Amino acid sequence: MPINPSRLTNFSLSVVVPAYNESTNLIKFVETLRLTVSKITPVYEIIIINDGSRDNTDEIGVQLAQENSIRYLSFSRNFGKEAALSAGIDHARGDAVLLIDADFQHPMEKLSEMCSLWQSGYDMVYGVIVDRGNESFLKRFGTRFFYSLMSAGTDVPIPQNAGDFRWLDRKVVNALKMLPERNRFMKGLYAWVGFKSIGMPFIPADRFSGVSSFKLTSLIKLALSGITAFSTLPLRLWTFIGGFISLVAISYAIYVVFDTLIYGNPVGGWPTITVALMLFSGVQLLSIGILGEYIGRIFDEVKQRPLYLIAKDHDNSSLDS
Ligand code: UDP
Ligand code: MG
Repeated sequence: MPINPSRLTNFSLSVVVPAYNESTNLIKFVETLRLTVSKITPVYEIIIINDGSRDNTDEIGVQLAQENSIRYLSFSRNFGKEAALSAGIDHARGDAVLLIDADFQHPMEKLSEMCSLWQSGYDMVYGVIVDRGNESFLKRFGTRFFYSLMSAGTDVPIPQNAGDFRWLDRKVVNALKMLPERNRFMKGLYAWVGFKSIGMPFIPADRFSGVSSFKLTSLIKLALSGITAFSTLPLRLWTFIGGFISLVAISYAIYVVFDTLIYGNPVGGWPTITVALMLFSGVQLLSIGILGEYIGRIFDEVKQRPLYLIAKDHDNSSLDS
């Protein structure tokens, strides 16, 4: 495979760092990041996106933005990590873009490996979590369940355990910027755009400081938006269930008719009617609920609201657009 020579020397790199309540990590993080990245390329920018933090991340961000090569964006409120990453991707100007968490969980020792993979011709290098050892059983089980549900219902396979620790080529970034949807399930979008991709195993470190913002409820929300955005399986499922139930109902009706005509059994069956009524009401409500999930998403899309609103933009990056 011919390697683009501009990937080998003097390429520019944009590092996208979403930060929500990361005041205890940010200064040290940017300092360490700078040391690591400057060994990879002298031409870089660090884009910090403050996702409506409630601590003093904003003050620290503004202060950091005085330094060279830092771009500081601050949202008008908390829009969520997916929106923060989208903002970073929209504003990045480098030939390559690195997405990395601000809490030291994504090991920086891996950056040179990601870079070499990109230089050898891969357009996207994504970190694959190999050890979920220090996550709760529930989170691990939920993640596995989610991935198996997703892979059953989509045309584009979404790699398992691949997170947002990624190195993207400009081509991929431009493709991502073309996707108009509001429902930004990033893991799905990365898979959807395609390009020559490779997974790179890594063991996430413990959070340096602070707490994880992803509670069980937000993970369930994320999973739901992933499933509704990338799979129509829940909708199609009801066609099969409905068909099956109808078949059973018809067979039972035939049986009842013969039973009455041939054996002369009087038609009884209050319990059958009540049970059937309750079962089918339940099934119908459930399927209407699933329809509602999708209609809600359509509603969100047609409103065409922006994904995020930027309250502050301090640009000290030296990269040209
Ligand atoms: N984050 C964000 N907006 C949010 C929640 C999180 O920008 O609403 C950022 C956070 O600052 C961190 C990254 O996303 O840099 C990952 O978040 P976290 O560590 O809380 O998640 P976990 O690593 O537990 O999945
Ligand atoms: Mg984290």
